[in-house]
Amino acid sequence: MPKRIAQIQLIWKTVQHAPSDSLTELEEFAQESHKLAGTAITLGFVDLGKRGRDIEILLKPFLENKTLPKGDEVIDAIVTSLNEISDIAPKQPVEMTYGEVSLLHEIHKKKQLTYVISSQEEDTREMIEQLQKIDYDISFFANTSELGDAIKQATPSVIIADLREFNLLDDISQVWRKESGVPLVVLCPTECWRSRLNVAQAGAFSFIQKPIEYDDLLMVLDNILEAKHVQYHVLIVDDDRVIAEHYSIVLQAAGMKTLLLENMEHLLDEIGEFNPDIVLMDLYMPDCSGIDAVCVIRQHLSHTNLPIVYISGETDLKMQMEALQVGADDFLIKPINDIHLTQAVSIRAKRFRKLSTLMDRDSLTGLLNHSNLKVALERELSRARRHAANVSFAMIDIDHFKLVNDKYGHPVGDKVIKGVARRLNYRFRKTDTVARYGGEEFALVLPDTSTDIALELVNEFRVTFSKTPFSNGSETFYTTLSAGIATFPEFQSLETIIEAADSSLYLAKEKGRNRVVTHVELGFG
Ligand code: GH3
Ligand code: MG
Ligand code: MG
Repeated sequence: MPKRIAQIQLIWKTVQHAPSDSLTELEEFAQESHKLAGTAITLGFVDLGKRGRDIEILLKPFLENKTLPKGDEVIDAIVTSLNEISDIAPKQPVEMTYGEVSLLHEIHKKKQLTYVISSQEEDTREMIEQLQKIDYDISFFANTSELGDAIKQATPSVIIADLREFNLLDDISQVWRKESGVPLVVLCPTECWRSRLNVAQAGAFSFIQKPIEYDDLLMVLDNILEAKHVQYHVLIVDDDRVIAEHYSIVLQAAGMKTLLLENMEHLLDEIGEFNPDIVLMDLYMPDCSGIDAVCVIRQHLSHTNLPIVYISGETDLKMQMEALQVGADDFLIKPINDIHLTQAVSIRAKRFRKLSTLMDRDSLTGLLNHSNLKVALERELSRARRHAANVSFAMIDIDHFKLVNDKYGHPVGDKVIKGVARRLNYRFRKTDTVARYGGEEFALVLPDTSTDIALELVNEFRVTFSKTPFSNGSETFYTTLSAGIATFPEFQSLETIIEAADSSLYLAKEKGRNRVVTHVELGFG
C-alpha cells in the first residue's frame, strides 16, 4: 500500500504540471485511484479504499469535460491525507460495516467481464442493456474470429452465445474450449433433445431457452460467480497424522479446505460444524474402524448423501466390498498419487455441493429453504455459544404483498420476491445466511453481529429497497419491507430466537409497516 500511495501522490503532482491539452496524466491518475480503491478495500484497508473511491468520483466531471483539476483543493487534501490512514490496521470482512461490505461487493462484482456473441445483434440488444444496468461489463461480437481475438486479449468471466442456428456452436468451438475454464451459456430458440444434446456436446455450462427470463439468466450468472469462489471442505479421518497431513497439504494446494480428525468422539459435531463436502476415511484405526464410523454417520438421515470415501491399503476385493456395504461411496487404494487424490476428491465434492445446493434451496429464488435455514441458524448458535459471540437473526416480510398480487398478478408478485432475494444475496456477506422463510417472508442469519449493527444493516437494506422500482410492463411501482430482529445471547435457543424475531416483525407491522423492530423494543433484553 505505501508504494501505491507514493505512486498516486506522484501522479497527482504531474497532473498539476501537465499541459492543459494533455489528458494522459489525468487518465493515469484516475486509473491509479481506481486501483487503490479496489486493492485497499479487498485487503481490508477500508478507509484508504473509500478515499480512492472519493477521488475517482471527484475526477469524473473533469474526465467528462476533458479539463484538468489543477489546484483542486478537495482532491489535494484527500491525496495528502492518504499517508496518515495507511497505518490503520486492515479490517477483516466480518468487522466491516454494512456500507463497507457493499463497497467490497460492488468492487468485486463490477468486474464481471462478459462476452456476448450472436449472428444477429438486434436479438441481444435488450439483454445487453439489462445486464449493463446491473454493472456487467459487456462486449458484443458478431462473429467468432472477433470473439477469439478478444478472448486472447482478456479472459472473460463468462461467454453468452445467443443462437439462431447451431452452426454458431461449431464456430465457437474453433476459438473456445471448455477446458479454458470460461463457462459458456447458450441461449437457444428451441427446446428438444437434439438441441440440448448439441449444447451439451459443445461443452456449455448452461442451456437457457428463449425468450429468456432475466431472473433465470441472472441466477445462472450468479451461480457462475459463486462457483468461482467455492472452496470444497474435506474432512480427513485418519489416525496416522503424517499421512493425513500429507493429504491435507495436497488438497489445500488444490484450493480445498481440510480438517483432520484423529479422535472419533467429535466426529458428528465436526461434520455438523465443518460441513464437509466429502469425508476421507481410514479403514483401520485403533479405537474404531472406518466401517463403524461410516455406520454411525449414516444413522443420521441428514448425512445420507454425504460422500464418504475410504483410503486404505486394503487390496482384498472382498474386504473392500464389505466396507462399501455400510453405505460408503468408494475405495481409494494407498499409496495414491497426488493428482489422482485431488481429482477423486474434487469430482465428488463438486457433485455433492451441486446436488445439496439444489436440494437445500428454494426453486423460485435460489435461497436456502426453511428447513435448511434452521440448520444454518442452529450451527451459528452453537458456534456462538462456544466462542461467546453474537448472532443476530432477522425476519423480513414484504408489506401488503397481497395487494401486489391482486393489482399486478401473481407472475409480477413472483418477480418482486425474486427481486428481494437477489438484493439480499447481493448485499449481505458471504458468511451471512440468506433464506426464504416462506411465501413473501425472508430470514437472515448474521454471525458476529450485535443487535445494533444488525438493526443498522437491515434498516439500510429496507430503505434502499423501498426506493427500488419494479415494473409491470408499463407501470412502475414500489414496495416496502418490515423486519424483526432478535439476537443471541439474549435468546439462547433456536425456538426462542425465531419466536422473538417473529414477534418483533409483528410489532413492526402493527406500528405501521416499512420499519425494523428489534427484541429490545419488545421489552426483552
Ligand atoms: P402484511 O403487510 O401484513 O405482510 O400483508 P401481506 O399482504 O403482505 O401479508 P399476507 O400474509 O396476508 O399475504 C401474503 C401473500 O403473499 C399471500 C400469498 O398469496 C402471497 N404469496 C405467498 N407466496 C407467494 C409466491 O410465491 N408468489 C406470489 N406471487 N405470491 C405469494
Ligand atoms: Mg407480507
Ligand atoms: Mg406474510
